[in-house]
Amino acid sequence: MEQPTPPQAPISPIDALRRICFLLERGRESSYRVDAFRTTIEAITLIGDAELKERVEAGTLKQIKGIGDSSAAIIGQAVRGVLPAYLVSAEEKHGEPLTRGGAELYAALRGDLHAHSNWSDGGSPIEEMVLAAVELGQEWMALTDHSPRLTIANGLSRERLTDQLKRVEAINASLGDAFTLLKGIEVDIHLDGTLDQDDDLLDQLDVVTASIHSKLRQPSFEMTPRMVAAVRNPHTNVLAHCTGQLVTGGRGKRPPSQFDAEKVFRACLENDVAVEINSRPERCDPPDELIELARDLGCLFTIDSDAHAPGQLDMKSLGCERAERLGITAERIVTTWPVEDVRAWAKG
Ligand SMILES: [Zn+2]
Ligand SMILES: [Zn+2]
Repeated sequence: MEQPTPPQAPISPIDALRRICFLLERGRESSYRVDAFRTTIEAITLIGDAELKERVEAGTLKQIKGIGDSSAAIIGQAVRGVLPAYLVSAEEKHGEPLTRGGAELYAALRGDLHAHSNWSDGGSPIEEMVLAAVELGQEWMALTDHSPRLTIANGLSRERLTDQLKRVEAINASLGDAFTLLKGIEVDIHLDGTLDQDDDLLDQLDVVTASIHSKLRQPSFEMTPRMVAAVRNPHTNVLAHCTGQLVTGGRGKRPPSQFDAEKVFRACLENDVAVEINSRPERCDPPDELIELARDLGCLFTIDSDAHAPGQLDMKSLGCERAERLGITAERIVTTWPVEDVRAWAKG
């Protein structure tokens, strides 16, 4: 992966707005702002360059639904060949890489095994997530929207997942060889350790990322067998945010779940399941000592964004910083592998 270079004038209004969204999302600014800019992008995509220019000159941009004061100023400056002031200040505030550490691993990253779209609780269409991944120099990404039980996150029913798989095929067909969107899921782990989607559908996916979102406070003697059962499920490829901890941020704090980590990670090792290093700053999951335990046992890892918006795909740099500091080498990190190797591993 590589950091996109800061844009220069002249810049198209759409590119300026997209870069602003990327920066605000990566900086975890309020989604209200970003949503407004994304609505503007949709609106001006429909009306085309010539009309946009005319409206800038006539001062009638704001008559278009979805264009407010900030958007109108950005579009006006971009159309006149000036770098929009809003973009300049967003670059100043959020343009720096999220971390200086982990640069070597970051450069080695090729993909992501955990990313959401607006089909579940993400904020953006699949296509927009893909475009951002391409711009970051990623080669592949698994689309892992939530499973049915997670109604709070608009989890995908059997029917909706089936529809989504067709959409993924269509997007892949339009992309050619430059990028691969893998069929995936973030599947909920039930209390008994079974997975929250039908086997025949899981069979159709390239990768299955499994995680726990309920009863996080179970005692270890219940949580450990629940996790081990999920890891032993032949469909499971990744054990995501395994402790469920929240360390900072708007959702408050939550202590890590209690389980026998050695047993769970041994099961990962024996079943070729990767332990996810979840890059979201509020998760920072697993904590250092568990990453070290999985490292010493010989587990595979994956560095994932768990992005719910395009700009958040770059949060993987935070996971890279941690992995590099803890001595996890690139060859053990599935998300540095070429996509064919990932497919073979996941189906192996
Ligand atoms: Zn999750
Ligand atoms: Zn997720």
